Amino acid sequence: APKNKVAIVTGSTSGIGMGIARRLAAQGVNIVINGLGDASVIEAERAAIETEFSVRCLYSPANMLSGSEISGMVQLAVEVLGSCDILINNAGIQHVAPIDEFPDEKWDAILQINLVAAFHAIKAVIPPMKARGWGRIINIASAHALVASPYKSAYVAAKHGIAGLTKTAALEVAANRITVNAICPGYVWTPLVEAQIPGTMAARGMTKEQVIHDVLLEAQPTKEFVTIDQVAALAAFLCSPETASITGAIIPIDGGWTAH
Ligand code: NAD
Repeated sequence: APKNKVAIVTGSTSGIGMGIARRLAAQGVNIVINGLGDASVIEAERAAIETEFSVRCLYSPANMLSGSEISGMVQLAVEVLGSCDILINNAGIQHVAPIDEFPDEKWDAILQINLVAAFHAIKAVIPPMKARGWGRIINIASAHALVASPYKSAYVAAKHGIAGLTKTAALEVAANRITVNAICPGYVWTPLVEAQIPGTMAARGMTKEQVIHDVLLEAQPTKEFVTIDQVAALAAFLCSPETASITGAIIPIDGGWTAH
């Protein structure tokens, strides 16, 4: 594996993405963080990663709705940090509503951010990864890449789609020492999960406590949320030299959810 590695982590201003960015930085990887949010909060986080872990950290404001901004983000990594060795496609949004009430613009945005953006990013990183003869691409999918839940049509469609993209990309770059895998978390307590509780309360006629226990944790035999640190540790493992033979894999980390 190359020294002075560079990783892009999309959607790393919050939740799972921030956890992965910090985990990789702790291992000495230079990082491009990305995502929406308050500029001064993002700048503080960027500077904190540099000082805490003694790595370079850049912020790319690329919006995952724009293919050209996504390729610009990869160009930034290559031009300023010298390469792009690791790509974590993590940015994602959710909307919970029955199909017959599902807003068209939410459908479009979820497909764009959760699926199409990963295509643009993978397309842009393959040439620099091939040039260095090494690469790791990790798509943060979901248990919803493997099974469905009602009222999440766009999200489930996008996550099943990214499983297919993962397998296809893995086959195309297998001979270039580039692996492509998908991590499929169950429920992780992040702003994305917290924000879907009101919609689920409305769609199912439940209280907040009922949604947490009878919908979210009901899915997971462990009866515990998956943690950001557990997902970040799996992502870091998939970036290690020992995982050269793991590619095209759709890997659950879901407390047993998809086992039943
Ligand atoms: P989060 O809401 O905490 O973080 C989402 C990140 O994506 C944020 O940094 C946000 O700014 C960014 N983002 C959103 N729209 C964007 C856009 N248009 N352009 C650029 N960035 C954008 O959510 P999270 O729970 O950490 O989710 C991260 C990933 O993990 C998502 O793909 C999600 O589907 C997946 N996931 C989450 C869970 C869970 O339970 N939290 C479970 C399975 C999979």
